[in-house]
Amino acid sequence: MSDHYVKVKVQLEQMKSADGGGETEAATEEEAARSSSSSPGSASPVAATVGGRRAAVRTSVANRRRSQSRAKKGAHDNNTCSSSIKQEASSPAQETVETSAGKMINRNSSERMLQIRGTGKVLQGKTETNGVVVPNRRSKDQHTKDDGNKLTKKRKPVTVDTSKAKTSLEALKVSIRQLKWKEFPVGRRLACDIYWHGVSFHDNENIVSGQVNKFPGMIEMLRKINLSRAVRTMQELFPEEYNFYPRSWILPDEYQLFATQIRLAKDSDSSLKPTFIVKPDGGSQGDGIYLIRDPSDLRMISGAHSKHAVVQEYIHKPLLIDKLKFDIRLYVLVKSLQPLEIYIAKEGLSRFCTEPYQEPSQKNLDQVYMHLTNYSLNVQSGNFVHSDSTNTGSKRTFSSILYRLASKGVDIKKVWSDIISLVIKTVIALEPELKVYYQADIPPGKPGPTCFQILGFDILLMKNLKPVLLEVNANPSMRIEHEQEVSPGVFEYVPSPVDEEVKVGVIRDTLRLVDPALRKPPHPTPVCSTGPGNDPQARGQSSVTRGQIARTQRSPGPGSEAPCPSDRDQTVGQTGTGHLNPAWLNRPS
Ligand code: ADP
Repeated sequence: MSDHYVKVKVQLEQMKSADGGGETEAATEEEAARSSSSSPGSASPVAATVGGRRAAVRTSVANRRRSQSRAKKGAHDNNTCSSSIKQEASSPAQETVETSAGKMINRNSSERMLQIRGTGKVLQGKTETNGVVVPNRRSKDQHTKDDGNKLTKKRKPVTVDTSKAKTSLEALKVSIRQLKWKEFPVGRRLACDIYWHGVSFHDNENIVSGQVNKFPGMIEMLRKINLSRAVRTMQELFPEEYNFYPRSWILPDEYQLFATQIRLAKDSDSSLKPTFIVKPDGGSQGDGIYLIRDPSDLRMISGAHSKHAVVQEYIHKPLLIDKLKFDIRLYVLVKSLQPLEIYIAKEGLSRFCTEPYQEPSQKNLDQVYMHLTNYSLNVQSGNFVHSDSTNTGSKRTFSSILYRLASKGVDIKKVWSDIISLVIKTVIALEPELKVYYQADIPPGKPGPTCFQILGFDILLMKNLKPVLLEVNANPSMRIEHEQEVSPGVFEYVPSPVDEEVKVGVIRDTLRLVDPALRKPPHPTPVCSTGPGNDPQARGQSSVTRGQIARTQRSPGPGSEAPCPSDRDQTVGQTGTGHLNPAWLNRPS
């Protein structure tokens, strides 16, 4: 079904506690890692236990917060944090990575244990020798032709409204052509099967059937402060499991806490010279980011007091390739929230700095080409290398990095497995609030579209190969061209082979995965308590006349119409485009 994605199916269950008190979570690990001969012995399970009272107290705090948030939105979802997680192997056609995740919570002893395991063959083609992955030799075109034929033989082509696709339009057009589906570039009077939005769920209003490629609330949840809060809530519950996210403080609320903690740490160890990275909440593409070595260096102290930002421990020992720092952009498809269904693209991008890396010192703190891997910054450096090959230059495929690491003896299965775990745990941290947004915009029992979304995970590998989450982008750039100066002062968009290879694959496989012909009937016994027929993700595909559902009209937020230059992820400004921007999201945790 899909060549580019690894399927990670996560099912959530909820059980009320037997004692009738606060909500208690119960779960069983539904599926352990497959123990086929292909499973790597190297993939070590990750497990943490947070025991007793402390965890119970924290859980009830987290649950209370979530209940409050639901109450605010008038949603009737009683679900608490996930309990049972099932991660299934990919469909046979994918035959590439098997993963397993499980969260086990022992109700009787109040001990909580979260187990997320990722195992699997990494980016495997037909053969794999000596740990070196050999790419599948079957041509891409052959795949596309076969699959396109299969999908289109006996039925009407799937219809896609691309009128709001913005900068993903080129890659989307190529994908639709390859699948032999039907594009509606200026929209359609009748309903389409799929609506492809460039920014937000609300790019098109009054969609009451089909599927939209954005979830309500995703932009809001992935803003730096909200992502930090969501992950930190889980860090409090499962510190070991969520140690992939750097220690962070939210400004201005936690300035005092930050200053005090750093002062105490420095007092107890005078050799300590930590570095921190300050990231404005609404920022993207490295805008407004700077490094500091002491809380007193914060620029928002003098002047812009109200600036909301996250200040974060700076990872000062990243893995380097050719002496350069780089990060990984992975594409993750959230296909459904209920049940939580996630696909992780096997191919991604690696973006390189353009100045050799040195550990931070007072002298080099301002050198963005050394410390920040953003494409949009580094492309302005004279050292940026545009390459026709996908495994050289300042932007390469992720697989080319893995091949290179494998050739040096790195256990890339373990690296990939850790990355999968990071992705699953991050989505789990976001999922409760996302459901609230979902139900607020698409109330259970009312006609509405279902949603899916491609997210861009930015991940840094530390020198010891541990993956660290930097951020998650709700609107990862899907541009397949880059700007080039063809003669002095004259710029043109020219095709970018690496972007085309990765992004067309991701969009095409996303479309194949959300193909309406593949939709299963609703789960006969829904595991979540939204009530029969209320599973918003399981609603039928029947086309409903526009206007049948009353929905708050919203104007697009700032930035939603802004052109997205080059490979810059699309973002919206401070206010976002969402229906709700509730104050509770900004409360200190
Ligand atoms: P933006 O949305 O502005 O791109 P990011 O959080 O992605 O913000 O940070 C920009 C860049 O800064 C990243 O691509 C990475 O190179 C670097 N970076 C971010 N956080 C850290 C960190 N905690 N440690 C080291 N480098 C970081």
